[in-house]
Amino acid sequence: MQVQEELKKLAEFQKFDLKIQAAQKVLRFIPLDLKNLESDLLVITTKYESLQWQHSDLDKQRLDYVNAIQSDTKLAKELEAKIPSILGRHKEYHFTQKHIDKLKKLCKDRNVEIEKIDSHKIELGVELSKIKENKENLEALLKDKKNALEIVVQTRQQEIVVATKEKEEFKKNISPAFLQKYERISSIYGHGVGIVKNKRCSSCDVLIPEQMFVKLQKGEEILECPHCMRILCQAPLQ
Ligand SMILES: [Zn+2]
Repeated sequence: MQVQEELKKLAEFQKFDLKIQAAQKVLRFIPLDLKNLESDLLVITTKYESLQWQHSDLDKQRLDYVNAIQSDTKLAKELEAKIPSILGRHKEYHFTQKHIDKLKKLCKDRNVEIEKIDSHKIELGVELSKIKENKENLEALLKDKKNALEIVVQTRQQEIVVATKEKEEFKKNISPAFLQKYERISSIYGHGVGIVKNKRCSSCDVLIPEQMFVKLQKGEEILECPHCMRILCQAPLQ
């Protein structure tokens, strides 16, 4: 009977370990949750910055074309102003006229390029505003998640503190031989007691041999699950 009593205590004692482990598991997954969101945000931010860079590069190209058009238009006008004075000098006249035509053609081609740039800028602008919205949503989500997780972290840490304290207090009631065995097994398997329900060890779900089950019910000795090696206890967890 004394064995059974001690086993019941171990089953109760184990509840503290399970509680602590559950809280630790939650705490372990929190950085992973945040990491996934942060890496999504990094992908979207990188894309956003690359689009912004393309957009400003287009602005720069556009400005270069506008400046070149202004300067060549000015030069063409200066050359055109010279034309009346060189009408008699055929060679110079033809050369100058050819130069003017070339400058005008260059300006026309640049205007075509500017149109292409403007249309590309419109497409980029639509994409940019879409990505900006996604980025801002993700940033807000990450912020909310961080706040929520902070509360979870505090709660779980508090649970661990309380359960550890209660565990230490409860420990005093358990006989040292049982406690030692429990701690040896739980240091390997996380928890040391396999609660038997419907003739199965609930830790590994393996059926307990009939002979062992009979012995377990007698409650005269400590028995280990033949599969997971945990201390078997028939006591209900409630
Ligand atoms: Zn087992």
